[in-house]
Amino acid sequence: MKKKKVRGIARDTLHFILEASRSSEPNEFAGLLSVEGDIISDVLILPGTESSRMSALVRLYMLPNMSVAGSAHSHPSGDLRPSDPDLIFFSRTGDYHLIVGPPFDEKSWICYDGAGKRRDLDVLDVDFQDDGFDDDLFDDELDGDLDPGFRDRL
Ligand code: ZN
Repeated sequence: MKKKKVRGIARDTLHFILEASRSSEPNEFAGLLSVEGDIISDVLILPGTESSRMSALVRLYMLPNMSVAGSAHSHPSGDLRPSDPDLIFFSRTGDYHLIVGPPFDEKSWICYDGAGKRRDLDVLDVDFQDDGFDDDLFDDELDGDLDPGFRDRL
């Protein structure tokens, strides 16, 4: 896996993680973090409990073409220290690992590196380009191309 230089995490992404963690209570939330440019901006959500989470994470980590910067998961107990399984997982999957807990606000998380040491991670306000435009364009083209073809064949 290629290691990427990461400038920070998008504020929206952090909020998403905190919100997902809050709504997952009393269960843990877990996801993988991916990077767009040099900013953590995407979360791949993994359902599951503590016992199944690691295998789910590892399965996703094996997927090709995914640039994984690290992970994010919740400790509903509020103890934000990584567990032993967490540390093993951190060492295998990227350099940025968030553990979040109650009250799930912008201060109730800690970022660790792959060795389980606390590290700073900036929270950045980012405006992402709206993906919707491309999708719409694609749909229009698809409609225009396919409709006559279907009619010809009918
Ligand atoms: Zn944990």
